[in-house]
Amino acid sequence: MISQTIVFKHLYQNPPAAIAYAKGSKISDEDLKNAIKHLEKFYEDLFIELSNFGEVRELRIVDNLAEHLIGNVYVRFNDESSASKAFNALAGKYYRSNLIQEEYCPFMKITDGKCKRFEEGKCLRGALCNFLHFKQINKALIQSLRDEMYENHPEYRKNRNNLFQRKQRNHEHSSSDSSLDGYDNIKRKNIIEKWNAKYHVEKEMEERLKKRTQEKIGLAILEEKLKRRKRFDEDEKMNDYRYIRRRQKFEDSEEETISKEDL
Ligand SMILES: [Zn+2]
Repeated sequence: MISQTIVFKHLYQNPPAAIAYAKGSKISDEDLKNAIKHLEKFYEDLFIELSNFGEVRELRIVDNLAEHLIGNVYVRFNDESSASKAFNALAGKYYRSNLIQEEYCPFMKITDGKCKRFEEGKCLRGALCNFLHFKQINKALIQSLRDEMYENHPEYRKNRNNLFQRKQRNHEHSSSDSSLDGYDNIKRKNIIEKWNAKYHVEKEMEERLKKRTQEKIGLAILEEKLKRRKRFDEDEKMNDYRYIRRRQKFEDSEEETISKEDL
């Protein structure tokens, strides 16, 4: 399986002083300086060599002394095609009289396999630890090698710019995505609750209005009834009045008649 990362097995030949140092023995300052120089020379040469195949993102040299790890070198390219270019070009070649043994490495990042305790200076297993202990490389040296790489291969810088833009875009997307996620979860729930609340309020208002209208209608009907009743009563009264008047008239005339008859 092709990956962005290649491991070159036992590519770095530790000078004896470096092995002694890695085992925890005391060595002279002179030996230590020479060991560092040896390491930095190797790192520099390899970085420049590898950067001809593609953009080198990470280059690490293992400090472990276990048989399967000693001298292993990890390189992570920006992409798989750069890694495969390097892999194919170096297959069967020699590096300082050592046949290059290479494998694609499954790590996403080289540091995924690192010993965290070693980084903190607390690894008790020492040089025989099975997690990766990486040799310290001067950060200024790494930076100058990167600068040189981008100078010699300006097309890699485009990767950087694209990556930067992509990251920004992703960030923009992710921010809107995250708001969408929020929308799906809490916000959506809140919105629905608000809708429901609004619906209930509207519904309630509607009900109240309806009730009031009904009440109004009821009132109107009642008023109408009362009015009619009043009119009826008035009519009745009028009728009574008319009746009384008619009756009086009748009685009066009868009285008159009687009195005339009496006369
Ligand atoms: Zn360790």
